[in-house]
Amino acid sequence: MQGTVYKSTGSWYTVKGENGQFYECRIKGKFRIQGIKSTNPVAVGDQVLFELEKDVEAGTGVIKKIQNRENYIVRRSVNLSKQTHIIASNIDQVFLLVTLNNPPTLTTFIDRFLVTAEAYHIEAVLLFNKVDSYSIEELAEVKYLAELYRNVGYECIGISAKNGKNVDKVREKMTGKTSMISGHSGTGKSTLINAIEPGLNLKTSEISEQHQQGQHTTTFAEMFDLSFDARIIDTPGIKGFGVVDMEREEIGNYFPEFFELKQDCKFHNCLHLEEPKCAVKEALENDEIAWSRYKSYLQIMEGDEDNYRIDQYQK
Ligand code: GDP
Ligand code: ZN
Repeated sequence: MQGTVYKSTGSWYTVKGENGQFYECRIKGKFRIQGIKSTNPVAVGDQVLFELEKDVEAGTGVIKKIQNRENYIVRRSVNLSKQTHIIASNIDQVFLLVTLNNPPTLTTFIDRFLVTAEAYHIEAVLLFNKVDSYSIEELAEVKYLAELYRNVGYECIGISAKNGKNVDKVREKMTGKTSMISGHSGTGKSTLINAIEPGLNLKTSEISEQHQQGQHTTTFAEMFDLSFDARIIDTPGIKGFGVVDMEREEIGNYFPEFFELKQDCKFHNCLHLEEPKCAVKEALENDEIAWSRYKSYLQIMEGDEDNYRIDQYQK
């Protein structure tokens, strides 16, 4: 039978079959897919083929095959072995909650997040939350930022998770898809999820508080069906996207507006730094590219390893 993995606890996987029923499944033998070596062979979001076990108690199965993943996000352990753990796979989109204050979300943070989403091949949508609480000046800033990021190609929605403004638009965007919701602690993730689906309590915030107290709990991603045709992946304790290894040469490819211009740079391997006749620098001088984006690019190019760490995505 075909199915989708909703939960993993290490050795057992909860798989939803195409008949809509849930089965507890195990694996037998080894899987290697797309050449990744990870500590977990099966991840939440995986599409699998499984067989029911006839001899033992009803409802358990064995996973026989994992279909190729559309995408996946990983966590790399910080120790020397640098083992990769696949957090989740086959994610259609990620919503990033952005607030101007309480807490502030910096453009450098937004840009790093978007770069990571590009590297993972996951569509990103920016939700500017708490529009009910902003001054006229702040609303103008939201408008400015939304326009900036729309020009780059990202969908932006101004919302109020608290009073429900545009929450229907978010629901609409989620329909038929598997989504993740990210953002600094305090940006309104729980409030939004509760507005979308009352009663669904995801662990996102709860766990991050534990982390702040220095506790280390092993947490697993989990997928939830919503009451409309939508799925949400909860990744407790992981606020960002984990770690992506990027070469300096590829970072520019994850800034869509830079990538578009690259063919006009004099050098085909232009890094848009000090090279002559660089189309990106020219566009920047002409205000066709936002300085904040270029600043983020330089920061990422500086290659401070720690900037890619999960902790950086936690507030
Ligand atoms: P999380 O840490 O991202 O899950 O954030 P919460 O959902 O816990 O929200 C943090 C705080 O922001 C709470 O006090 C919420 O009531 C408040 N909040 C969330 N969304 C909104 C909003 O749209 N408008 C306003 N004014 N406050 C909000
Ligand atoms: Zn260039």
